[in-house]
Amino acid sequence: MRAAIFHEHGGPEVVRIEQVPRPDPGDGQVLVQVRASAMNHLDLWVRRGIPIETTMPHIGGSDIAGVIAEVGAGVDEARVGERVVINPSLWCGRCWACARGEESMCQRFRILGEHTDGGFAEFVVADADHVYRIPDEMPFEEAAAIPISYMTAWRALVTRAVLKPGEDVLVIGASGGTALAAVQIGRLMGARVFAVTKGAEKVQRLRELGADVVYDRGETDWSKAVYKDTGKRGVDVVVENVGGPTWAGSVRALANGGRLVTYGGTAGPKVELDLRGVFWRQIQVIGTTMASRGEFEDLLRVIFSGRLKPVIDSVLPLDEARLAHERLEAGGQFGKIVLVP
Ligand code: ZN
Repeated sequence: MRAAIFHEHGGPEVVRIEQVPRPDPGDGQVLVQVRASAMNHLDLWVRRGIPIETTMPHIGGSDIAGVIAEVGAGVDEARVGERVVINPSLWCGRCWACARGEESMCQRFRILGEHTDGGFAEFVVADADHVYRIPDEMPFEEAAAIPISYMTAWRALVTRAVLKPGEDVLVIGASGGTALAAVQIGRLMGARVFAVTKGAEKVQRLRELGADVVYDRGETDWSKAVYKDTGKRGVDVVVENVGGPTWAGSVRALANGGRLVTYGGTAGPKVELDLRGVFWRQIQVIGTTMASRGEFEDLLRVIFSGRLKPVIDSVLPLDEARLAHERLEAGGQFGKIVLVP
């Protein structure tokens, strides 16, 4: 089968298209013929060589939709031909976190496409119980745009920040897949959504997605503007994924007692935090990553019912995987970049 693969860590140039053996589904697994697979920042980190245990050579791609082509032992044959999306979270099922349904806190938590070969290929194997049927009318590209971004934003707002209707939420870096998901989910939850992005076109598109107030960071000192636009109060929740350059502004934008929820640091993991601002203003800094099995299933129900539509930036052929890496690295995208074999 064809796959976008790299044999060494490095820049986008290490990504090559090669013929590799098709994987076989093991016990309890299915072989999925990939029809679409979306990019995540995670794919960039893995390619650059973050210190994790990954396969090498490596096929990235954690967000996968396709058709079940074959089933392994113990899986219902009738599932062959099913149109599916894959939950890329991998957990042990035996530790204390798994026992209480907190799979994303699993002590052996791993991600399909990060710790294992993923979906930037014509086929991928996955555990049958991680593979969910999608509605007949849902395009594969849209299904592939769901998993990591939408589950991360869902857990961040619903479970970790416990966003309530009527509250104000500010989403930073609102053009990436997960940040856009946070804008959409925040709106769905009945919050007033503020967003920070760059460029007039993205400002306009965020308004169309339902953001109430959008700041162009090239034009406005957004943390001051938020203060003014919330009647000198600040927002209840900030959704952070940038880190370094935005952190101080994000903290400043919080109301007293506010919650800052972070799921990443695309511009750098080290930030400064003035503890006086934490205890005196009683703010919370909350980490979050991925989602539990239950949260993933709740999210799918919402999306499959049509209340939330994943945002796609562009669809590229798998052969252009290197270009997809470059595009995501450049940060000019609005929504998910999807590859199709
Ligand atoms: Zn576990």
